[in-house]
Amino acid sequence: MTEPTVGFQLNRAAFVAGTFAAMSVALPPRAAIAEPPATPGAKVSPEQLLGRLMAGNRRFLDNDFPPLSKVAEKREMLAEHQEPFAVILSCADSRVVPNFVFVQGVGDLFVTRVAGNYPDDLVTGSIEYAIEHLGSRLVMVLGHDNCGAVDAVYSAIKSKSPLPPHLAKIEELIRPGIEDVVRAHGTLHQAVEANVRAAVARLKSSPPVIEEASASGRVLVVGANYRLETGEVVPVS
Ligand SMILES: [Zn+2]
Repeated sequence: MTEPTVGFQLNRAAFVAGTFAAMSVALPPRAAIAEPPATPGAKVSPEQLLGRLMAGNRRFLDNDFPPLSKVAEKREMLAEHQEPFAVILSCADSRVVPNFVFVQGVGDLFVTRVAGNYPDDLVTGSIEYAIEHLGSRLVMVLGHDNCGAVDAVYSAIKSKSPLPPHLAKIEELIRPGIEDVVRAHGTLHQAVEANVRAAVARLKSSPPVIEEASASGRVLVVGANYRLETGEVVPVS
């Protein structure tokens, strides 16, 4: 039997260059994935943590959830201290549930959710806190198929119709990142991906905490899209 050729030997350059996209097409079987320890230490790279996260998505695709019997025990352990290994910035959409999508438990993920998954100052501050005070070393912006928030902005640009005041606040943030796609008659899916890219770029250029952590390699900031029908997380680069 031939071993899978697409592995989790990730590196930052490959991810940024987009070759990580190949991994999403053919994730190796769960048994073939060497996961880093559950508790991230200094020797675990952000790339390995990304492998851990994606291994969790593989479990999700396999409908392989651990029993909840140990939740209470872990909750007590975490009462005084937390070290979430990853930050997820996802949409508030009810169908996108990060702890399910990556099969992670109490204390594993620091999740910020807002319609359209674009970081305003409050979200950016939350992520800074996770990096500086909780030691998180991986940040994933997670968009999704058929995003209503992106669609609202997409439609507003197309129709030149104003949105209600509070939705307009979201539009202010999302519009610059997708405007070119909409004007070029791109699809909503392309707009969702453009929005993820814009969100990643904004975080990576947010001084001083995230910008420095990203530039130094201490923290990896990546983008991905969640497929509503399949449950698959597909990298966006
Ligand atoms: Zn959404």
